Amino acid sequence: MNARSIIVTVLFGLLAATTWGHPNVLERQQMFEAFGWDPETAEITVEEIAPGRYVLFGIGGNILASIGEQGVLLVDDQIPEIRDRIDAALAELGAEGVDFIINTHWHFDHADGNLSYGPDGVWLISHSASRQMMTEDQIINLVGVAYKQEAYPVEALPVITFDDRMQLHFNGERIDLVHTGPAHTTGDAAVIFRGQNIVHMGDVFVLTGWPFIDHDSGGDLDGLIAFVRAILDEIDNDTIVVPGHGPVSDRAAMVSYLEDLERARARIARMIAEGADLEEIIAAEPTSDLDERRGDSAMFLDRAYHSLKESVLP
Ligand SMILES: [Zn+2]
Repeated sequence: MNARSIIVTVLFGLLAATTWGHPNVLERQQMFEAFGWDPETAEITVEEIAPGRYVLFGIGGNILASIGEQGVLLVDDQIPEIRDRIDAALAELGAEGVDFIINTHWHFDHADGNLSYGPDGVWLISHSASRQMMTEDQIINLVGVAYKQEAYPVEALPVITFDDRMQLHFNGERIDLVHTGPAHTTGDAAVIFRGQNIVHMGDVFVLTGWPFIDHDSGGDLDGLIAFVRAILDEIDNDTIVVPGHGPVSDRAAMVSYLEDLERARARIARMIAEGADLEEIIAAEPTSDLDERRGDSAMFLDRAYHSLKESVLP
């Protein structure tokens, strides 16, 4: 999930909630419509970010592809409805099939492609908590609306999981998977390609709006801030940074994002400590100056409030 999609969803949700009552759980087709996604006409665009390393933009989270002498490794796999176009784009880049897929987390727009690639024998890898979330039905609370992500069959579940860190050695470089604790979800992985100096951040870092904190499923604002800090320490000013959503970026953009999150966190926490409730915080527009570059904060304020109030209030 990313923030810009969610803004659309919230608007749609306000409309829908009055029509259908509460709670409003979107069906898959409704979710596509709410996000403005049309899987039948969607196209994949490709950006080469290093020799043999590409970002594929389609529907959902950004895909990072490593294509080389040992085969093909993807980070995230979008949705099965557009797999034919993902495969066609990979084939044009010289890929013959897919060997490994790392899921940055379990959300449908990053991992539903497992439903198609898994049964074909692709080795799926994720954080252990993400695999656990995939084994059961999940309701993703998008505030005002929700999406039910159904449990994956065993063939679509990761066969390799990790808790804190793990390494792969593929296509001439070491790949570090790093998890520092609950952040966007409870199962986020940053994937760092050490040779080509690239990191895929999943939805811990997005450039399409304020981040979504999946607090109902254990996501945590302070954890997200800590996660970003930890990865900043792992990379340098030349690192190519792939956000979960949005254009290919760099470390400086991550620093700016971290600063805005820390400013917002301090302001919301202060208001909570002073006794403000969610309505009062939203009415006070505590991030209005930051919203000019981050976008609408309605969803973020709601999730941040619920995430922070447990730690701020005694
Ligand atoms: Zn997500």
